[in-house]
Amino acid sequence: MRALLLFLAKQEGFKNFAMNFGFFRKAALRFVAGETLDDAIRIVRQANQQNITGTLDLLGENTLTQEDATNACREIIGIFDRILAEKVHCNISIKLTQLGLALDRDLSRRILFQIAKHALDKGNFVRVDMEDSQCTQRTLELVEDVHEKLGNVGAVIQSYLYRSEQDTLRLLERGIGIRLVKGAYLEPERVAFRKKKDTDANFVKLMKLLLAGKPYHAIATHDESMISAAKEFARSLNISRDHFEFQMLYGIRRDLQLQLAREGYHVRIYIPYGRRWYPYFMRRLAERPANVTFLARNLLKD
Ligand SMILES: Cc1cc2nc3c(=O)[nH]c(=O)nc-3n(C[C@H](O)[C@H](O)[C@H](O)COP(=O)(O)OP(=O)(O)OC[C@H]3O[C@@H](n4cnc5c(N)ncnc54)[C@H](O)[C@@H]3O)c2cc1C
Repeated sequence: MRALLLFLAKQEGFKNFAMNFGFFRKAALRFVAGETLDDAIRIVRQANQQNITGTLDLLGENTLTQEDATNACREIIGIFDRILAEKVHCNISIKLTQLGLALDRDLSRRILFQIAKHALDKGNFVRVDMEDSQCTQRTLELVEDVHEKLGNVGAVIQSYLYRSEQDTLRLLERGIGIRLVKGAYLEPERVAFRKKKDTDANFVKLMKLLLAGKPYHAIATHDESMISAAKEFARSLNISRDHFEFQMLYGIRRDLQLQLAREGYHVRIYIPYGRRWYPYFMRRLAERPANVTFLARNLLKD
């Protein structure tokens, strides 16, 4: 089921078919703040009121033209201005394929630099999401390059990839902040663990490297056993709660987000918005079979 959904996430034909169902669009709103920046800012404000920060994601990936990449850049730069004007506690997450990574690496490097420079001028930070394994090397190179020049760019490491321990050690040496996730794409066995238990074991191993190292990192998961392992490890080494944060996705385990914030941990939620929600939504469905059963039942009624 997971493989099928992740395959469909890349199929334009299925996307056009699925998006014709009103319920499909409504169901996506469980995971997406809405189609406009106003919708997203409203969600950030609500989170801030509960001591939870945000990271905004203007949805879009695999941009096909230079014009689309530069338009996305302009829109993302505008988000930093809006964050400052609204005085909300929030940074931005971006995907390099939205900014032309697959078209022209130099174009995406220039755009990433431009976005990070603008963020720096506004006292803010850019997190570069990690996409499928074909992008890993190029994404990390661009993050390292722009981080060296500006310092306000962070990376994402996926614990399902065999290469992640080496990448983590290199990023730590360079003082780059990391968001640790399990990984959301369909990957071949030659690059990624297949079994959940192996991905989880690697997550715990990498979490320990992050929490014991510098600078500030993010443990991004809804998995209570991963969260407990991080809390326990931090306690055992007397690592301050100000040294790291937990991150979760908008619409998932809100109870846990609030509980961690109440316990005094830093919590940030990833808030996607925009019209290009289809692939993001399909990845969320793929993570949990129960989401698909619920959707299928309602599509039949629609
Ligand atoms: C802030 C944040 C940023 C992320 N950025 C990236 C990125 O840049 N690149 C990338 O590849 N991946 C990213 N991910 C996704 C990540 O790789 C996982 O696919 C996702 O977080 C699910 O894994 P899990 O750690 O929650 O553990 P799992 O073992 O998958 O889930 C643990 C529990 O969480 C709940 N849960 C998890 N997913 C769902 C869902 N979709 N719907 C309902 N309940 C759910 C369920 O209760 C489940 O039992 C990000 C995740 C977070 C939280």
